[in-house]
Amino acid sequence: MAKKKTKKAPARKTLKTARPVKRGRKPSKFARVTGGLKKKVKNRFQKFYVLHRPAINNWRRSSYKTKKKQGICVKCKKKALKTSIFCAYHLAKSRVYNRR
Ligand SMILES: [Zn+2]
Repeated sequence: MAKKKTKKAPARKTLKTARPVKRGRKPSKFARVTGGLKKKVKNRFQKFYVLHRPAINNWRRSSYKTKKKQGICVKCKKKALKTSIFCAYHLAKSRVYNRR
């Protein structure tokens, strides 16, 4: 009787054996980032902002673009003027703070 050639899959390394916890190992990226932030960040909201800044910026930018395309004021949900990305109210406002 021929021996079946069913290779037993090598036992997969568990997470423990794959990454043994050594003393003095580098902390995870998250720990390094948050650890370094402790001095600069005052509260958890600021910490969240700093940690997720790229994502938040992307989201903001994309919402800006879609609003611009649809002709909505980028600062509120009113319809924008055809000549501007703002509604009449925010256009007036922007003129005020651009003067400063
Ligand atoms: Zn507006």
